Amino acid sequence: MAVTTVSVLGATGSIGTSTLDVLRRNPYAFRVVALTGHGNVDLLESQCREFAPELAVVADAERAADLRQRLAGAGLPTEVDYGAQGLDAAAGADAQITVAAIVGAAGLRPTLTAVARGRRILLANKESLVMGGALFMAAVERSGAELLPVDSEHNAIFQCLPGNFSRGRLVDSGVSRVVLTASGGPFRDWAADALEGVTPEQACAHPNWSMGRKISVDSATLMNKGLEVIEAAWLFGVEPAHLDVVIHPQSIVHSFVEYADGSMLAQLGNPDMRTPIAHALAWPRRIPAGVPPLDLVRLGQLEFRAPDTTRFRCLDFAFRALREGGASGAILNAANEAAVEAFLQHRMPFTRIADIIAAALDEFGGTDAADLDALLALDRDVRSRARAMIAQCAGGVQ
Ligand code: NAD
Ligand code: MG
Repeated sequence: MAVTTVSVLGATGSIGTSTLDVLRRNPYAFRVVALTGHGNVDLLESQCREFAPELAVVADAERAADLRQRLAGAGLPTEVDYGAQGLDAAAGADAQITVAAIVGAAGLRPTLTAVARGRRILLANKESLVMGGALFMAAVERSGAELLPVDSEHNAIFQCLPGNFSRGRLVDSGVSRVVLTASGGPFRDWAADALEGVTPEQACAHPNWSMGRKISVDSATLMNKGLEVIEAAWLFGVEPAHLDVVIHPQSIVHSFVEYADGSMLAQLGNPDMRTPIAHALAWPRRIPAGVPPLDLVRLGQLEFRAPDTTRFRCLDFAFRALREGGASGAILNAANEAAVEAFLQHRMPFTRIADIIAAALDEFGGTDAADLDALLALDRDVRSRARAMIAQCAGGVQ
């Protein structure tokens, strides 16, 4: 079997380390050519020693000098680069697969660079699709890149769609509805007034999944599901009216596809991102991921209920952004990133996150962005406006 080359953008994060774990388990199938790590030089150093990539990328010149010094004399082929040009080099590296696992808007430009190469992209960075869906999918179309979803829900949907489905023509395949499951997050059963005082530590303690801090807060507000609704709309070309969300506290069913004949297909598995990552790395083959099989008898029961959009308003904002179109996804995403950052830094209460997003959608609604530069400029404008709103209400939380 030929060896497949892989570049991992965001290698030091939760998705990045899960990806490297799957690669580690399949050493004869894959070879790592580039890794990016931003601020975590310790972890990137040990990843370089283990996977011997040709390129390693960190945030700035100082960290690059540090990493170079640490790797000196190790006999590795690794060049060290940094900043935007380093990310561009890792995204443009001659790899058959690029794993897009940088968190947030910072992932948009490098992911688009990888898309332009027209090879296989494993998409974890949902924010890039939420921000620039039209632009992103047009770039995929142009380059002929093979876009495979790593987000567990979208990977599940991909597995449940007919093999020959065509984007935007799901109805022709007999699909009547796509249903995303959501765990409901750590505050699923909390009373509305108890949410006011929750801490970042409580928000990041997800009951089922172990993830980075930003997406953990998104799960706690249900904004993660909102971002995923938009992600699904772009990935599969499905209209908002055919998209639904159901709360499923066990996170065992990762999503459903419903067909015109009444069939509903689901993909099940333990909540471990190595399953969708392995699926997308090897597709259409299957490889071991290190994930134990489900023990259905031990599980006993699976529950499903409707989401409560009174306590968790963010889900509705995402549907609103989807219906409004234009650059609404970018506005929603920028306001959310600024608000989550402020909450994580104890500068704002949890419940204000939704207020900031609603205010940004009202204020910037109707704005459009014709190209990548316009989109990134809008992203900056919305962030700085959101930060000003946050500062106004601050004095806030200690
Ligand atoms: P994380 O915070 O654990 O890791 C983020 C990675 O991005 C790190 O390698 C970090 O060094 C890098 N990074 C951060 N800021 C950067 C910047 N400004 N420039 C360049 N690199 C930067 O995040 P994560 O949980 O692994 O999530 C990564 C992406 O995958 C997110 O878009 C998230 O929504 C998506 N995702 C994650 C999970 C999960 O289980 N963790 C599941 C589905 C989708
Ligand atoms: Mg998900």
